[in-house]
Amino acid sequence: MQEDRRVVVIGSGPAGATAALFLARAGVEVTLLEAGSEHSTLGLTLRVAGVTLMNFRRPLRQRNNDVTRTGDPRAELWEEIAPGGLSNHWACAVPRFSEDDFCDARRAGEEYTWPIGYADLTHWYDEVEDLLHVSGATVEAPQLPAGRVRHEWKLPEDWSRVASEARSLGRSVLPLPYSYGSDTTFTFSGTPFNAFVRLVKPAMRAGRASVRFDAHAERLEWSPQDRRVSHVIYRDMRSLAARSSSLPGPSTAPACCSSRGVMSFPKGSGTPKVYWADTCTTTRWPSC
Ligand SMILES: Cc1cc2nc3c(=O)[nH]c(=O)nc-3n(C[C@H](O)[C@H](O)[C@H](O)COP(=O)(O)OP(=O)(O)OC[C@H]3O[C@@H](n4cnc5c(N)ncnc54)[C@H](O)[C@@H]3O)c2cc1C
Repeated sequence: MQEDRRVVVIGSGPAGATAALFLARAGVEVTLLEAGSEHSTLGLTLRVAGVTLMNFRRPLRQRNNDVTRTGDPRAELWEEIAPGGLSNHWACAVPRFSEDDFCDARRAGEEYTWPIGYADLTHWYDEVEDLLHVSGATVEAPQLPAGRVRHEWKLPEDWSRVASEARSLGRSVLPLPYSYGSDTTFTFSGTPFNAFVRLVKPAMRAGRASVRFDAHAERLEWSPQDRRVSHVIYRDMRSLAARSSSLPGPSTAPACCSSRGVMSFPKGSGTPKVYWADTCTTTRWPSC
């Protein structure tokens, strides 16, 4: 990356959008491949003085074809292929993981231990929270470390008894941090903070990142000599023609296409009603 400052980022959900923005700010030439079409984020959110007055978004799409159900046959798969990914639908709650959350896996057994801890992430939390325009508490709690907050939220007076009861039991009650931007917001997306609209679009306008829409990445080509990904093969969903990212020479491709689906299980099936599929749901990604 030192000698060739060009990177292909796949997907413009929160992960890809943030990666693209940080790279662009570092002077790297970024091309973002997004499988969704340019206008598929369209929605409308209006918040005034901290209250959401209007919110319109397209519903999540159910995917039935090319899905093999290996468990409960009644399971359903819903997914979003659109700029911004699942931030077209998210609730915008952005609590930090606490130090203890990183120990959870270890408690399940050494083989599940996280390779990083809370201290490794604090710097990144600070940077990303700045982008997210977080509204929340500035008070620190062991289960919810305070983040970088633009708009401070305090518990309303009538919650003080609940909070002090909780404290006597060693618990905390705090307002959950949200990525709501300023109290008064008007945005052409279905949630107050859509990762594509808020992070990528301004970088595009400033000429710092370019986006190819309807570009469904299918395969990464590995160069054994350079020991890195040399090309990204994607399909143009409008013409259905296969293309290679037109980046000659070495390029790097962080794949950010992980959590594209939401799985829903019917009530009474003995399985959770809803499961956020934070893992790759497509068989086309052998590297995921
Ligand atoms: C209803 C709902 C509520 C939620 N609430 C919260 C919340 O309050 N707080 C929170 O932190 N999280 C929440 N989440 C989860 C959060 O939205 C996801 O964790 C987050 O969006 C994951 O980001 P990502 O960039 O990894 O993936 P995604 O958001 O899934 O983005 C993936 C992107 O890649 C694109 N893509 C996929 N495949 C390809 C391909 N082959 N080629 C090119 N592009 C491709 C997609 O179009 C999309 O733009 C919620 C999710 C849902 C569904």
